[in-house]
Amino acid sequence: MVQTGKINMLMGIDVGGTNLRLGILDHGLVIDDIRFQANFSEICKNNPADVAWHKILEVTANAINEMLKKHPDVSAVGIGFPGFIAPNTQIILQSPNLPGILNVDLSAALSAMIKRPVLVENDALVAAYGEFCSLKSHDKASAKTRIQDLIYVGLGTGVGGGLILNGQPFGGQHGMAMEIGHMITVPNGRLCGCGNHGCMEQYASATGVALSYQDLTGEAIAVDAIARLARAGDVEAIKAYELAGVNLAIAIANIVAVLDIRLILIGGGMSHAWDLMADVFHATLNAALIPVLRGKIEVEISNFGDQAGIIGAALLSSTLVS
Ligand SMILES: [Zn+2]
Repeated sequence: MVQTGKINMLMGIDVGGTNLRLGILDHGLVIDDIRFQANFSEICKNNPADVAWHKILEVTANAINEMLKKHPDVSAVGIGFPGFIAPNTQIILQSPNLPGILNVDLSAALSAMIKRPVLVENDALVAAYGEFCSLKSHDKASAKTRIQDLIYVGLGTGVGGGLILNGQPFGGQHGMAMEIGHMITVPNGRLCGCGNHGCMEQYASATGVALSYQDLTGEAIAVDAIARLARAGDVEAIKAYELAGVNLAIAIANIVAVLDIRLILIGGGMSHAWDLMADVFHATLNAALIPVLRGKIEVEISNFGDQAGIIGAALLSSTLVS
């Protein structure tokens, strides 16, 4: 449970490349939660940009209005969106995993359709905030209550990063802080949706694991099937996950060299397969960290798992109505 002040009921939404997830937060507790496959990535790949944008708006507004029928007391809606969000204006500048979504105002469009204030923020940043609020509300005797800084890494269709500094979400001057999925870990590597080559998310995301497996075997199969194969001992499937772990570890070692933050939380749908990456991740991280930092960085699976985004988005939206 997390504190929401005087505001009782809020809605949080996690927009993913594959899934759309909505949750209702009542006094800091998730009391209702729906998730469905919206396939926004596919919609963007298969339609002109303006058609894709209107489909995304319609699907999202319809889902919100269905939830509002059950929970009419919701006072604000927070959305975690996978993209670069301009500070202050909330304009979505670009979404590498939703091609064609450029310079759109989801907040203004949706608030007109659902008659509630809508806050839009980067998906990993809202998840980081959700995780941070959960640490704050833990046992006062816990050392984690003193944590003021953390990094959240969301492993999903892409890889997002969120930073909490001095207890506040840090989005950067252009809303581009912590775009760790676009740190280049393989020079001249795979082409990324952002336009560069060799970005970490091309290896460490669900999409990246599927691409690695395809490179190794010639077979294009879903990431869940690759996880099952890896657990059954399939060598190529294991390698695809290990490549994810190596690239993630190199990116995190570099971030820690810049920011010196002790707590890293791993969330997102791919965190369910952390067991397939963990050993190689820790070995690579330990080797890549500045020696004085070895053994001092805590990497943990996030507390809220894939609910962190809806919780953080809902909590941040309370600033619109408090
Ligand atoms: Zn990229």
